[in-house]
Amino acid sequence: MEPVLIVGAGIVGLTLGQALKQKNIPFKIFERDATPEARGQGWAITLHWALEYMFKMLPEATLSRIQDVQVDPDVARHDNGNFLFINLETGEPKYKIPPNRRWRVNREKMRRALLCGIEEHVHWGHRVTGLSLPENEDRVHLLFQNASAVSGRLVVGIEGSRSMVRQILRPDSFDNVPLGINFTGVAVDLTPEDVQPLRDMDPLLFQGCHPRTGVFFWFSMLETPLVNGTANTRDERYRAQICMSWPEESANDRVAPTDEGRLANMKKRAVGFAPFLQHAVDQIPAGTPVTEINLADWECLDWNNHDGRVTLAGDAAHAMTMYRGEAANHGILDAFCLTEAIDQVFNHGVTTSVALGKYEHEMRERTRRAVQLSRQACRDAHSWERLDGNSAILTKRAIVAS
Ligand SMILES: Cc1cc2nc3c(=O)[nH]c(=O)nc-3n(C[C@H](O)[C@H](O)[C@H](O)COP(=O)(O)OP(=O)(O)OC[C@H]3O[C@@H](n4cnc5c(N)ncnc54)[C@H](O)[C@@H]3O)c2cc1C
Repeated sequence: MEPVLIVGAGIVGLTLGQALKQKNIPFKIFERDATPEARGQGWAITLHWALEYMFKMLPEATLSRIQDVQVDPDVARHDNGNFLFINLETGEPKYKIPPNRRWRVNREKMRRALLCGIEEHVHWGHRVTGLSLPENEDRVHLLFQNASAVSGRLVVGIEGSRSMVRQILRPDSFDNVPLGINFTGVAVDLTPEDVQPLRDMDPLLFQGCHPRTGVFFWFSMLETPLVNGTANTRDERYRAQICMSWPEESANDRVAPTDEGRLANMKKRAVGFAPFLQHAVDQIPAGTPVTEINLADWECLDWNNHDGRVTLAGDAAHAMTMYRGEAANHGILDAFCLTEAIDQVFNHGVTTSVALGKYEHEMRERTRRAVQLSRQACRDAHSWERLDGNSAILTKRAIVAS
């Protein structure tokens, strides 16, 4: 049979590639980035309930490579932290939720870990621009920017929340829907003294809301001195992610076009935070790049999968905000379920139409609910009065169907 064609070598595309390799199913991955190093350092993400599925579908060597790229190897060995949501004005925890088992990993390093062993299947510098679906044939053609094409048994669009394949499948309604909340963040180096009060709160991450202004703050570790090689030197440093978000109520709430303007806005919105939190924002050096993340989502609408020849997975299928830290976990479960479906086609004679239909049905039920919960979590995170033990931002991260 012709191969499975995967668009996008992000975390979910590479996980699917690894899982298909375990089943001896032919596949090719096409990625627009020129090389695996083309991206910057990126964010960290927490893997929690999807770990169970990673253990089922990935080879041991890959799992151990991913385990090795946790942001804080010390914490990873005996993680007993809580998921903390704090009052930013007082610095006091409002909610303490014991975590599930979690691996907090550097996203780009995880991508490289997932690439190991499937390098020859990944075609870098291949931006996919279209599809062609010949009538009465069990195949599909993928078209590239350089006017070349390749043919396969089916295409999986896993090219992130601005998916081109999604646009082809739902030309009338492919756009993510904005939430009206703005978000900026930085990655910053901190001395052991500067980081201590933040790590005393939680060594990996914590979040909070300011009761009067509704500003949301998020601290998370990106690198410890052990990871970046500065341990026991005079330049010992940690690298952390500091993010803030706020509702857009007027033109003054828009994100500034320059790093300078964005940083000034973060510092202005941190006035009134507990002193150690305000200090964490105030000490971000001038000139630090400030990234904006557009908060928008897409509820895994219906699409015609053309007899199971085209489907979606990961953020392409269900863009959600990160206020429950679940999007990659859902993407990994997509990869697990999709591997089972494709195995049915390649090794058990089931039609693509039946196998992919089943995959999409499960994914839609699961992720529509997840997109809605993440949207609600984002809204709750900016409204102190709305926060209670049942708020979507606080309730257990787990697979919840509608
Ligand atoms: C700040 C932040 C924190 C987050 N924290 C968490 C967390 O704690 N837990 C969690 O579960 N999730 C988290 N997420 C979400 C998580 O990062 C994403 O769900 C995940 O990375 C999506 O993976 P993906 O493979 O679907 O897409 P992506 O990682 O976006 O990969 C898509 C790939 O497709 C490529 N591509 C795009 N277009 C084309 C094209 N036309 N042709 C070829 N290639 C193309 C891109 O270059 C990219 O490599 C967070 C997200 C953010 C922004």
